[in-house]
Amino acid sequence: MTDTTTARLLIIGPPGAGKGTQASRIAERYGVPAISTGDIFRANIKGGTPLGKQVQAIIEQGELVPDSLTNEIVEDRLQQADAVGGFLLDGYPRTVEQVHALDAMLRPVGAGLDAVVLLEAEVDEVVARLLKRAELEGRADDTEEVIRHRQEVYAEQTAPLVALFSERGILVSVNGLGTVEEVADRIAQGLDAKLGARVGS
Ligand code: AMP
Repeated sequence: MTDTTTARLLIIGPPGAGKGTQASRIAERYGVPAISTGDIFRANIKGGTPLGKQVQAIIEQGELVPDSLTNEIVEDRLQQADAVGGFLLDGYPRTVEQVHALDAMLRPVGAGLDAVVLLEAEVDEVVARLLKRAELEGRADDTEEVIRHRQEVYAEQTAPLVALFSERGILVSVNGLGTVEEVADRIAQGLDAKLGARVGS
């Protein structure tokens, strides 16, 4: 990467595809903060804040937090100094409305997302992974029903965004099966190619 460019990135994919693990790798590689709306919500739930109380039941049921609230949180976060030179979003935008809200947030600085990594994984594979994690970490709330519901919400609300990013020419599809290292290498290759093309254009 040259230091004259910013990288505004997003990682998207079904729950359980390994986005969080890969997000920190990507963020480190491109020198940008990883911003996860799920992490922000979980920290607020843990801290017992008003926001945490507002979103806890929604998250436990596997539903999406309302767009207006989520957009507000991201807008605040993107205004912090560390995000001015770029960022990696993980778990946002998740609906078409959130895509439009993000576009509006970035418009004043004449920017948009530079690349979107789609981490591909089969539903049965990710459900199996999430069930195992729930058992290992004692997450009693993560029942199979809730885990499957989150996959349905992804398929209905978030998967349609992939076509939208593809039309914009910023999509980088990566097979999410394999070791953390293997997947990280695929992402790095795909992103370097996409961002390199941008630098030259
Ligand atoms: P994640 O860790 O990204 O899977 O997020 C955990 C949960 O937080 C999701 O199942 C949603 O309930 C909520 N959440 C995270 N990001 C968003 C978002 N962009 N829009 C609405 N709800 C979200």
